[in-house]
Amino acid sequence: MTNVDQLVIEGLTVDFDGFRAVDGVDLTMTQGVLNFLIGPNGAGKTTLVDAITGLVSGTGRVTFRGADLLTMRSHRIVRHGVGRTFQTATVFEELSVLQNLDIAGGVHRKAWQLVLPRRGVPDYVASALETIGLSHLADTPAGFLAHGQKQWLEIGMLLVQDASVMLLDEPVAGMSAEEREATGDLLRRIGADRTIVVIEHDMDFVRSFADHVTVMHAGRILAEGSVADVQADPRVQEVYLGHAAAEATDEELAVVGLVAQDEEEAS
Ligand code: ADP
Ligand code: MG
Repeated sequence: MTNVDQLVIEGLTVDFDGFRAVDGVDLTMTQGVLNFLIGPNGAGKTTLVDAITGLVSGTGRVTFRGADLLTMRSHRIVRHGVGRTFQTATVFEELSVLQNLDIAGGVHRKAWQLVLPRRGVPDYVASALETIGLSHLADTPAGFLAHGQKQWLEIGMLLVQDASVMLLDEPVAGMSAEEREATGDLLRRIGADRTIVVIEHDMDFVRSFADHVTVMHAGRILAEGSVADVQADPRVQEVYLGHAAAEATDEELAVVGLVAQDEEEAS
């Protein structure tokens, strides 16, 4: 390993019928650290990922390994090593865990290879199963998996796609504390040789696992840095806590942290 990959976003803008959901975002995400993207509902986080992965069109530039993703169609973006998950799981419920992984791995096989019967479990699939901790459930229909396990399966599907960039849209939403912990550990394990971006609301999870945090608000980058940096930023406190934050004491801020998004009436 000599080169460290970077996903470089420059002037990214997305308009929906005159509404600017992403507004001139400049952002660099680096391999080997856990990058988190946070911000209130409607900030533009999902739209940013949609633009990077070719699901909505955007202007500006998003460079990864010498290519501008904004000029590519979504299937080519996947082949270029950029994968994402969605806020709601997109596994095939009636297919087994193994079959879901095998289909996801198909992006790198030719069409005729897909229809040939293949014996056994390919190494890269077995290895992904083990990494996500679902080896014992390989033959279980994905529909029977617990909520957390479905999200891990989705991450496994990115592993077999050999995604070097993983954009994960709220992967721990709805998870139990143990599942969150296991997910954070999983992301740390796979993060060293990948560029991982996690969208998340839960500040406890962010505090536990984020190496680099970017805060979005109204389509723009409000702040970025370490967890401590962004928590100390008055503009971030303002967005999360409302105007009351300006007068709040440090102790009050520490108690609410940045989680107080829904409690802005507290004064
Ligand atoms: P976040 O993921 O940060 O909660 P989104 O990226 O989903 O925010 O949405 C950002 C803004 O763009 C919101 O105001 C949302 O209503 C708007 N938006 C998202 N998708 C569309 C769309 N397809 N058409 C119009 N407006 C959209
Ligand atoms: Mg979203």
